[in-house]
Amino acid sequence: MTEKGRGGIYVHVPFCKSRCIYCDFYSTVHSAEWQERYVDALQREVTLRHTELVSPADTLYIGGGTPSQLSPSTLLRLFRILDMYFTFTPDAEVTIEANPEDVTEEWLAVLRDTPVNRISMGVQTFDDSLLALLRRRHSSRDALQAVERCRKAGFDNLSLDLMYGLPGQTYEQWKTDVEEVLHLGVPHLSAYALQVEDGTLLGKYIKEGKWKETDEELYLAFYEYLLDAVAQAGMNHYEISNFCLPGFHSRHNSSYWAQAPYLGLGPGAHSYDGDRHRRWNKPGLRAYVENAGVPPHGEETLSDNELYDELVMTRLRTSEGLSLSLLSEENKAYCLAQAATHLHRGKLTCKNDVLRLTRKGIFTSDDIMSDLMR
Ligand code: SF4
Repeated sequence: MTEKGRGGIYVHVPFCKSRCIYCDFYSTVHSAEWQERYVDALQREVTLRHTELVSPADTLYIGGGTPSQLSPSTLLRLFRILDMYFTFTPDAEVTIEANPEDVTEEWLAVLRDTPVNRISMGVQTFDDSLLALLRRRHSSRDALQAVERCRKAGFDNLSLDLMYGLPGQTYEQWKTDVEEVLHLGVPHLSAYALQVEDGTLLGKYIKEGKWKETDEELYLAFYEYLLDAVAQAGMNHYEISNFCLPGFHSRHNSSYWAQAPYLGLGPGAHSYDGDRHRRWNKPGLRAYVENAGVPPHGEETLSDNELYDELVMTRLRTSEGLSLSLLSEENKAYCLAQAATHLHRGKLTCKNDVLRLTRKGIFTSDDIMSDLMR
């Protein structure tokens, strides 16, 4: 085990029933036959690459795409394959992403035959008109029922995703979304500002002037409300977009921010050896399933400056902050010099040699990080 923590495994499931208008994650809308071909290819990849990660792994994250779109038999097969090649710590965190409309009693019964102990659900908003606008396939009622069903089936470790800054979304609508999550009392919330990505339908509508992007001030008002509301509810703000009740942080995502090693399997998945080597499978299901050997991929070796930049970007976004003891003397001096203005303006603090964003700094975190980078 490295001091950064044990390794994690990420499996990318590249299927969605249809595409949401804002999404640029890699996924396709292929049929059941492709699901089987995908799992065949995943088995090939696991066979060839499982030794890249030192066992036992501490976290497993099945993400996508929409993993809850896998048929029960395909999902069980996927877990059997992972079980054949990897060992896990006894208290490993095993997360699966799900869309609310897939969370049926039958699906949850299948999950009970797997090691899954955490479910992350993409709710995005409880407003039905906004859900329709985003082309989500569920209603607010589906989301509420899904949470109830999970709990009935014994899955209490739930995380919900919300998005803010949706086209035309009002402050009141956002307030209602946050209140609903807090009322549900789920132990983990991820709340993301909507990003307008090129190549998405949302990006196209905005470019064509059909829809307007939410203005900066409203984004800040949404975020400000969120921070106050979650703090009052006793949730820790442990990363820019992530909040949890004590003890319920995402161990898998936290390991990314702590430079722990992880093995990414499936098309588009990224891997990191915990040191200098990054590797990413190319997106593209066809190439992934038709390839008889190691899937098509890219890789890079990080330079000293790139390693330093990664530390700034990952550590500063967490409430644990960036410990200057991780930096060389030269980088430490550079970092403090770059941080001086932000320290003076109260956007950063430095205590016991740890740099942290203040609440004021969180609002301009991207600018601060880029100032500190090489
Ligand atoms: S947001 Fe999720 S469900 Fe929607 S297209 Fe992207 S991966 Fe699929």
